[in-house]
Amino acid sequence: MKIITIIFALFLSASLYCQNWDEIDIKPIKVTDNIYMLTGGGGNIGLCVGEDGIVMIDDQFAPLSEKINATLREISDQEIKYLINTHWHGDHTGGNENFANDGATIVAHDNVHKRLSTEQIRPFGRTTPASPEAAWPQLTFDERMTIHFNGQSIHLIHIHNAHTDGDAFVYFPEDNVLHMGDCFFKDRFPYIDRDMGGSPDGAIKAVELALMIADGETQIIPGHGSLANKDDLLRYHTMLITMRDRIKKVIKENVSEEDLDFDSLTQDYETWGGGFINNEKMVKTFFSAYTD
Ligand SMILES: [Zn+2]
Repeated sequence: MKIITIIFALFLSASLYCQNWDEIDIKPIKVTDNIYMLTGGGGNIGLCVGEDGIVMIDDQFAPLSEKINATLREISDQEIKYLINTHWHGDHTGGNENFANDGATIVAHDNVHKRLSTEQIRPFGRTTPASPEAAWPQLTFDERMTIHFNGQSIHLIHIHNAHTDGDAFVYFPEDNVLHMGDCFFKDRFPYIDRDMGGSPDGAIKAVELALMIADGETQIIPGHGSLANKDDLLRYHTMLITMRDRIKKVIKENVSEEDLDFDSLTQDYETWGGGFINNEKMVKTFFSAYTD
């Protein structure tokens, strides 16, 4: 029995982490003359290209680094000078070691350094081992940092306890582009990593800050999903507020976790739970956050 459990656990972890990398294409989307978004097999990548070199935001998984480099070569013949991590999750930082070995300086919030440099205890007793030292950010910041590069003033803005405890927005005021990392899943329910310092209230505040930064012309790169604008973000905000209010209401009515009606609580958002976070996970995350 024990052996079967171990084999199943190995199969599960293999299926989670060993995607068929050969089938994944890294596709560039031109956002402005100097900024691109790359889609592929993890969180959306942002790129700022110009005469000083390349600034890249997030780097998906390690097995995709070569493909990412090949796509970069179609856009620019410069090297990656800075690699910004929007947070520590592996689908955004998996290529850190490869790109650092190629000469990129990794920049992130202090807590990204903390999480990547030490073993992390995850839900269900899982652990994520510390990353190799080359993958750790070399430049870290607390609240804010600005990188003056390629004629842009690239603002890194720490977001408190939203998706994790080390989230950052990356805002390009000159080109009016905002990369929100996983503080924005376009037209999908959020993943709020409460074990890593995330919270629903922080996630809502993050979106409210982004709504203050953005105007009708802002192009928004979400952590996952297609290139977005302020209307998309307003729709996401409405969903978050609706979920929060519905779940707080049933908590007030003393509904227990076993009696939660996932379908009615996620009514009108039936298509938002199709990905990693289904409607049950979404409701349970908010319920546990507001009953703890
Ligand atoms: Zn994430």
